[in-house]
Amino acid sequence: MDRQLPNPKANKNILRITYVIAGLFVCLIGYFGYFLQFRRESVINNSYNARLDRFADRIVRGELQSHDGRILARTAVAEDGAETRVYPYGPLFAHVVGYFHMGKTGLEALGNFYLLTSHVNLIEKTVNELSNIKNIGDKVITTLDVDLQQAAYDALGDRRGAVIVMEPGTGKILAMVSRPDFDPNTLEQDWDMLISGENTQAQLLNRATQGLYPPGSTFKMVTVLEYIRENPETWRDFTFDCDGQYECGDYTISCYHGNAHGSQTLEQAFANSCNGAFAALGLELNPGGLYTLSEQLLFNGEQPLSLAFSKSSFVMGSDAGVWEILQTSIGQGSTQMTPMHNAMLTAAVANGGTLMKPYLIERVENAAGEEIHKFFPESGAKLMTAEEASLLSELMRRVVTEGTGSAVRTDAYPVAGKTGSAEFETGKETHAWFTGFAPVDNPQLTVTVVVEESGSGGQIAAPVARAIFDVYFSR
Ligand SMILES: [Zn+2]
Repeated sequence: MDRQLPNPKANKNILRITYVIAGLFVCLIGYFGYFLQFRRESVINNSYNARLDRFADRIVRGELQSHDGRILARTAVAEDGAETRVYPYGPLFAHVVGYFHMGKTGLEALGNFYLLTSHVNLIEKTVNELSNIKNIGDKVITTLDVDLQQAAYDALGDRRGAVIVMEPGTGKILAMVSRPDFDPNTLEQDWDMLISGENTQAQLLNRATQGLYPPGSTFKMVTVLEYIRENPETWRDFTFDCDGQYECGDYTISCYHGNAHGSQTLEQAFANSCNGAFAALGLELNPGGLYTLSEQLLFNGEQPLSLAFSKSSFVMGSDAGVWEILQTSIGQGSTQMTPMHNAMLTAAVANGGTLMKPYLIERVENAAGEEIHKFFPESGAKLMTAEEASLLSELMRRVVTEGTGSAVRTDAYPVAGKTGSAEFETGKETHAWFTGFAPVDNPQLTVTVVVEESGSGGQIAAPVARAIFDVYFSR
């Protein structure tokens, strides 16, 4: 009988295959670990991921609450197990709380992972799993303040626009309103109307973070900062004589309603929002200087936001012609920005030049109210030096004490701010802007308002801000 000799080649192959399989197995285990540790959140949070439904099969979606525990969204479970997401405040928080059943937006998207994760105690969890009872998802406690949100919503009224209220020292967003709005409780029924091509209201758009507007005279904060940077020793010597129309070659820049401001220093021109002075000043700036500064101030780029946002745009380069310079220096032309971006610039001025990263989730608790996660303020970007921030504060204070911001002038709390009346289409009313903070020496609150197609910033937008400051400083 021939003894078959072992075939060394075949053994080698078997060994090789074993190694490969073992290697694959190690990779698989490794990926599982990696997935559980790091990827789970991003997979659950992906709004197009069908795996989400598997979690929803085992977890009753958790609650979203205001900072003081008032319920902004909860899931009602009927006796037959049918679940309904209930938004007790209806349209009041429509955009910032968002929705999750027709795509995901707002806090429903931001907090999705936590809302679909349950930290009820282990025994309860196991008993529930075994008896096929769903566990209750964690609660997301937001930074939102119901009273300020209501004040902003009411002050804006039925007009189109947006309001953002922030704490400049922390980046907490206390209120974010966008109108027109929708009722998240009836979103599914209203969906076809909302997305119909004939609907021109764009109710689903969160104007606060996604609406792009010409900044109008609020952009003079940027123009004046560039002028101060280029003329650190002499900027206070600037003077301009305004007769209501500034003529430069074939071009004319008018002040609001043709008002003649007379002789103006830079501080006065900023306080009165003198377009002629700023157009003339713009011509003195280095070509491309405003472009570089704008990019430092988050135009044309990413913003430190976890909500969906539109990028603000600043396009004027160093080869710009006279007309473009005149327009751009006063916040007209092709510059566009979101209300949230303006709120961030204002918050940086109020916070010594440092933008704190805006945030909306304060902490996460399990259904029994035990803390699971807590979020802390984080520095976003240093947008300007402390000295520049202090100079801008000083200029913005004068807007309120002696200029266009008189609607927020009160002995109760000193406000600093800037108004804007942005033209966007010939023959139409301007968009009204106000952005500011208070108290000027120890800022606790920034308020940014835009009211579309409504008139002047001082007359229309500043009173909206006033209503919010009044609520905040009277409690
Ligand atoms: Zn003027």
